[in-house]
Amino acid sequence: MHDIFVLAEHREGELREVTLEILTLAGQLAEQSGGKVTAVLLGSGIDEYAGKCASFADRVLVVDDPMYKDYNSAAYQQALVELIKAEKPHLVLIGNTGQGVDLAPSLAVELDVPYTSDVVSVTLEGDKPVATRQYYGGKIDGRIEFKDADVYVLAIREASTPAGEGGKSGEIQKIDNPVTTEVTVRKFLEYVEAAIGEVDITQSTMLVSVGRGIRDEKNMPIMEELAEAMGADLSASRAVVDAGWLPTDRQVGISGKTVSPKLYLAVGISGAFQHVTGIKGADVVVAINKDPDAPIFQYADYGIVDDLLKVVPALTEKIKEMKG
Ligand SMILES: Cc1cc2nc3c(=O)[nH]c(=O)nc-3n(C[C@H](O)[C@H](O)[C@H](O)COP(=O)(O)OP(=O)(O)OC[C@H]3O[C@@H](n4cnc5c(N)ncnc54)[C@H](O)[C@@H]3O)c2cc1C
Repeated sequence: MHDIFVLAEHREGELREVTLEILTLAGQLAEQSGGKVTAVLLGSGIDEYAGKCASFADRVLVVDDPMYKDYNSAAYQQALVELIKAEKPHLVLIGNTGQGVDLAPSLAVELDVPYTSDVVSVTLEGDKPVATRQYYGGKIDGRIEFKDADVYVLAIREASTPAGEGGKSGEIQKIDNPVTTEVTVRKFLEYVEAAIGEVDITQSTMLVSVGRGIRDEKNMPIMEELAEAMGADLSASRAVVDAGWLPTDRQVGISGKTVSPKLYLAVGISGAFQHVTGIKGADVVVAINKDPDAPIFQYADYGIVDDLLKVVPALTEKIKEMKG
């Protein structure tokens, strides 16, 4: 009774990376508990995803039905409730994504089982999961224990476990749609992609990213000069975008863009997980921050602990000098 369900997430024709990350985590837990990992895949025309999930799971339960062509939390929830009641997994792992945080708490309430969100790691103590969540921008870890239950629902933060190599060949089991009546309470209308502004930071090779440490809009020119000297584009944390110092399409992070530059220079950015989730694809991260304990240094390959108002102009000068 230590089986683990992982909800496979896909959007706009792509199986999302978070699925493979959580399947990897589930595999590690199952190794400890002796259970099996089942990827639950709801969709329409999803054979390719099933194959991919099978290399990370012991089994893939596939419900291929037009009802699941696009994400609809009401339909997903009904299907999962039926499957969980029938299969009785011990853990149900769902991505802490836009879809996941819409679905998972409501699913747990309907099943009347323990739930926690935004989990960065899970261990098993005896039969029970113990989850870790972070507080105060990642400075403090909280240990979450649960009351006794047959099933636990956990929403797992994206990028908290790196996706493994796969290498399994799980059984792909196609089953009938457990939801037999049309779901009308919620309806999918359309995906609306955010407009791409004059600079598409998802395509930038180098990014100079500005955080609240810049303190005032009047200091922005030093960042622009540095970016120009480096031949980089400017991006920002949400704090800077919220202050109106750079437009929304420059925001990096969970509610902004995911970027994958060769070099990401984080200036005056604390490194909240909502931000660093967006830079997991960067080759090299360099951070400038006056606080040596800022969480950004956990992600940075190189760090400068000093006042950015001193470091940035000096760096610009040096780059100009070297170029000239
Ligand atoms: C649902 C949700 C979604 C979110 N999505 C995003 C997102 O997509 N992207 C995002 O970025 N955030 C996001 N956030 C906000 C996130 O939690 C942080 O609040 C935000 O990233 C903080 O921005 P910051 O690092 O610029 O500012 P702060 O956390 O205030 O950090 C400023 C840093 O600057 C340093 N500093 C100050 N002065 C200097 C100086 N003179 N020299 C050098 N260093 C200095 C400080 O030590 C500090 O580390 C989201 C939050 C929520 C709740």
